[in-house]
Amino acid sequence: MNRAVLKSKEEIKLIRESATIVSKTLGMLASEITPGVTTLKLDKLAETFIRDNDAKPGFLGLYDFPNTLCVSPNSQVVHGIPNDNPLIEGDIVSIDCGAIKNGFYGDHAYTFPVGEVDSKVKILLDTTKESLYKGIAEFKVGNRIGDIGYAIQNHCESKGYGVVRELVGHGLGKTMHEPPEVPNYGRRGQGKKLENGMVLAIEPMINMGTHKIKQLKDGWSIITKDNLPSAHFEHNIALIDGKPNLLSTFMYIDSVLGINSSQETPFIRSEII
Ligand code: MG
Ligand code: MG
Repeated sequence: MNRAVLKSKEEIKLIRESATIVSKTLGMLASEITPGVTTLKLDKLAETFIRDNDAKPGFLGLYDFPNTLCVSPNSQVVHGIPNDNPLIEGDIVSIDCGAIKNGFYGDHAYTFPVGEVDSKVKILLDTTKESLYKGIAEFKVGNRIGDIGYAIQNHCESKGYGVVRELVGHGLGKTMHEPPEVPNYGRRGQGKKLENGMVLAIEPMINMGTHKIKQLKDGWSIITKDNLPSAHFEHNIALIDGKPNLLSTFMYIDSVLGINSSQETPFIRSEII
């Protein structure tokens, strides 16, 4: 099956409910991510928080993944397994989280700085987040999947960064990964047509250096081939009445980190759902 599963507005409301639990989980974690915290502690906090919100962790047991969070510090791109190692000042850490409620998944991610980070690394984080919103802006009727990837790739490669090829965004709904695949690279006007009722997880994975990656021996963690840092940001978005509608939000994170951003504003159209 490689046709997108189109959702009704009622189903999109349910996906937004699950995504909101993930958004709040990431917001809760934002205040815990400080030098000295272990990634396993973050994992336990997230699992408790999700269950307290009458949902279940979306990743735990999915494809036999052992934890609630994918926690990927520094040169790890995605799919890192939480462990007892403390984070240290100057690290960055991608936290990817899923939740399932009412039979629908939410799935999104944010890369956090741990204390003060190097200015070059901060620019990598900012650029990757900007590219996510540039991709979201292309998720509209009249465009194709390649328009999303083109916008992300163009923004990041113009800064000299590497765009990961092997891992991609995806459709989202009653299963975590549905068609279509959403590459973070592409050509304008290429790929599947974007349709009302599509729900996508758009998730640029952007490397400071080479786009090439390798897998660690744990069978999960993906790491950059040159060991330079990698950033990852992910949102869930529904296509309604021709335009993108954010189902996830970073506002809970922003309020903890003191970030005043209007990046989400064009994509929040809550009157529709
Ligand atoms: Mg994810
Ligand atoms: Mg995803």
